[in-house]
Amino acid sequence: MTPRGPFILHSFYSLQDTRNALALWSNSFGLNPRVCYNRFVRITASAYLNNANMTSAKPRVLVLGLDGATWTLLDPLLAQQKLPTLGKLIQNGSRSILRSCIQPSSEQAWSAFATGKQNGKFGLYGFYQRAKNSYALEYINASHRRAATLWRILSERGKKCVVVNVPLTWPVEKINGALVSGLMTPGLNSEFTFPHELKNELLNELGEYIIDVDIERGETGGESLDELAARVKRMSELQTRAFEYLLEKNSDWDFGMLVHRAPDILCHKFWRYQDPSHPLYNEREAAQWGNVINDCFEYLDAFNARLLEKFADENTTVIVLSDHGFGPLTHAVYLNQYFAQKGILAYKEQQGNTLSSALRAGVKRLNNPLVGAVKARVFELFPKLKSNLHYSMAYGNMDWSRTKAYAVGTMGNVYLNVRGREPEGRLETGDYEAARDEVISVMRELRDPETQKPIFDFVYRREEIYHGDALEDAPDVVGLIDGPYHIAAVDWRGANGKEKSIVEKVGNQLLFVSDTSGQHRMNGILIANGAGISPNHPITQSPNLIDLAPTILQIFGEAIPNDMDGRVLNELLLHQRQAAYAPASNFENQMDGEYSDAERQAIEERLAGLGYLG
Ligand SMILES: [Zn+2]
Repeated sequence: MTPRGPFILHSFYSLQDTRNALALWSNSFGLNPRVCYNRFVRITASAYLNNANMTSAKPRVLVLGLDGATWTLLDPLLAQQKLPTLGKLIQNGSRSILRSCIQPSSEQAWSAFATGKQNGKFGLYGFYQRAKNSYALEYINASHRRAATLWRILSERGKKCVVVNVPLTWPVEKINGALVSGLMTPGLNSEFTFPHELKNELLNELGEYIIDVDIERGETGGESLDELAARVKRMSELQTRAFEYLLEKNSDWDFGMLVHRAPDILCHKFWRYQDPSHPLYNEREAAQWGNVINDCFEYLDAFNARLLEKFADENTTVIVLSDHGFGPLTHAVYLNQYFAQKGILAYKEQQGNTLSSALRAGVKRLNNPLVGAVKARVFELFPKLKSNLHYSMAYGNMDWSRTKAYAVGTMGNVYLNVRGREPEGRLETGDYEAARDEVISVMRELRDPETQKPIFDFVYRREEIYHGDALEDAPDVVGLIDGPYHIAAVDWRGANGKEKSIVEKVGNQLLFVSDTSGQHRMNGILIANGAGISPNHPITQSPNLIDLAPTILQIFGEAIPNDMDGRVLNELLLHQRQAAYAPASNFENQMDGEYSDAERQAIEERLAGLGYLG
């Protein structure tokens, strides 16, 4: 039985006596009585626990992720006392900005958190990445990650872990405890839990489960914005209940982590309705949907209150964090089209970046609501199809023999087209640096024609920001956008003879981007509270996502693998001890849950039946 602070005080004085005595004492020194009382409870508890049998004072770490949360949205709600749980955690704990990784995209950012490393070691640079020696893009999953996760390291050290809904955890890892995978899981038909039998147990317990909500569905599946918001809330509720169920079932847990994806999904979709500075803002829509994001933070605050009440005792360190921040998205930037204007890239057709008519028909068909209803299922069964379709839509029309570099994805990743490395590489190795300099200077010149502000906050050579075994897979040039832009690799409207400006407003029927009005930012949030955390201590050096894994290992008193790039956030900790480092063990992927050959064949037959395979 774990002793609790107030019980300890009871054994010395009555609670009220203690409070009164401390109030008198703190007033005479001009101190805040509440802070003094909380500190007293903490010090008394920790003194007691240090003398008590250590098995009863087992340190625990509870991590609650608010995917995409940003102080610019939370602070006004905190000021109105609408987030009492976060408010309390901040009041007795520490808060800070938390810097994301580059690129600040959920799958990379949660990997930076999980591994304590930068991308050059964990080897992920986007939701899809180039297959080896090919221009083809493949959607990534956890099996592509080339570094050990925190829960894997803790499991190997005998700690029990419960991990729910962290993005990029499918295929599921074998850990000591339980895991329910998150974003990038193919769907409910896949093995999304470890152990596998947990899946049916959870479905029986909860009645249903939602892994993630695809915002494209709002356009293609006939779902209204209200239905979408309701489904996101339902998802958060189910995942909170799954986490509660698993923490109760694994009552001797050491590390518990739940990521709420709702803020990320809703900020992409609903930003424009709550931001009067957004070009698509209007009051009628604001009255209807302007509170969806704020409501989300409020219900998540209530879900988190429930979790803290049940599972955080005085031995528990509580960490709340986001993987990146959020801000408005106002413009889609056709970077490849801009490259074509600058002579860096060329298209096969004279008209420029047009889609072939067959592809255009395919896109139309996929965007049809009726087909859209089966689309999610098809992609779930056959993820490669999504990659191939995406690839052929984006790059099917490229003239590689005249292309020096091209952009991939929505965030500013650019690959050079190098002979011997790319299938139709054009640049000789000796021309690589000159071509890279040209691409960098062209990207730095790119400005918003309205504000004259640069589109890219920074443009890096890959080795300036990444290092490690996976550096060679990184884009050659990395443009970081920390403003209201994202990259559209292709102009879906096709060329119709009209001159187009390089930067266009969103909302013009662009597939995948038209209804997105919020975008990621580098500054996320960090709150720490509870056992081992120094209360009300400002964090002076801006912490980074990669600092959390070594800090959590330090809280557990565990050695830190010496290949982690992050640092222990000592300024956060009550007791600053020398960190112990250990040689990193060799990483081997231990993923489970890939499709069997029979499943693959069944999938292909089904797709052929639907007319998706030629
Ligand atoms: Zn995210």
